Amino acid sequence: MSYTLPEKAATLQPYDPVEGSYAIRLDANESWLTPDAATREQWGKAVAAMDFNRYPDPLAAAPVAAFAKMYGVDPALVTAGNGSDELISILMTTFLQKGDAMLCMAPDFSMYRFYTHLTENRAVVYQKDDDLQIDVDAVLALAKQEQVRLIIFSNPCNPTSLGLDREAVRRLIRGTDALVVLDEAYMDFWDQSLLDEVADYDNLIILRTASKALGLAAVRLGLAVANPRLTAVIRAAKSPYNVNLATQTLAAEALSDPDYQRRCAETLVTARRELAAGLAPLLNAGKLTRLYDSCTNFVLVELPDARRVFETLKTQYSIVVRCFGDNRLRITAGSPDENAALLQALNDIL
Ligand SMILES: *Cc1c(COP(=O)(O)O)cnc(C)c1O
Repeated sequence: MSYTLPEKAATLQPYDPVEGSYAIRLDANESWLTPDAATREQWGKAVAAMDFNRYPDPLAAAPVAAFAKMYGVDPALVTAGNGSDELISILMTTFLQKGDAMLCMAPDFSMYRFYTHLTENRAVVYQKDDDLQIDVDAVLALAKQEQVRLIIFSNPCNPTSLGLDREAVRRLIRGTDALVVLDEAYMDFWDQSLLDEVADYDNLIILRTASKALGLAAVRLGLAVANPRLTAVIRAAKSPYNVNLATQTLAAEALSDPDYQRRCAETLVTARRELAAGLAPLLNAGKLTRLYDSCTNFVLVELPDARRVFETLKTQYSIVVRCFGDNRLRITAGSPDENAALLQALNDIL
């Protein structure tokens, strides 16, 4: 006998983060803010006091309540996940059935498409133009033509750093019968969230994460926010104990200060503004061909020979960023020192 892998498994391409140890990591859009020693000690005590032998709360009520308070939403509309990545997977497997198509955009977060490979649903890709803007009418026309059942995109967008304003997003949601999954992973850095009005739509699920502005990428907490009918389905579809108790405990601690998110976001936005300002002279000198107008904690730049610059930063300066195609780099805003080192290195290289 011999075992043959199913084709979809044999052709899987794993998500490929930069591996290895580098002095400065500006590749994953993480926060550079970390808790101080006293906070760490307090969190450590909370973790030590956990009921290790018991299954955790299936609805993660403590972090959900803290999140709901912080953002002013009804906790009954919020479902926690093991990172928003897990929630994306749950939404794809639950809200698409055999033969259904889903619409994603390019460039956008690569995981959306990844899951349709596993579920064997057809992905319809809306290709953004050179400016990387989203034309809502064109998206709606494509969704209708291809009869998609689900539309997913990030706003503000990773990796473009660009945002689609609230009214345009509303028009997109109202203009389709498809379910719209609006990934607001970076909305802490901008002010065009639809969280307040999520229950007004029968076809909207908003994803949020603790991994970016809240600086908890290691803890793995994502949130899906939707009307009660959709929330009931998401809760029924997820595995019962998807958010472990260490995550629930740490997230409840970290989110207990309602102003925390605002303070972190302000600091990170300031760092991104400084990074963009530091890149402007390279743009004016023609070394960069474009600096996209960011509403996130990272910037996207266009330049000739991006791969060579990416490799040189990594090997000679121990600085990692993300390279997209032949002509774009995505650079997460780091601490003032990290940004200064990156700018110095780019000036040397270019
Ligand atoms: C970083 C990111 C996420 C967050 O994923 P988690 O699993 O919550 O860490 C989600 N969507 C986008 C577009 C991202 O860039």
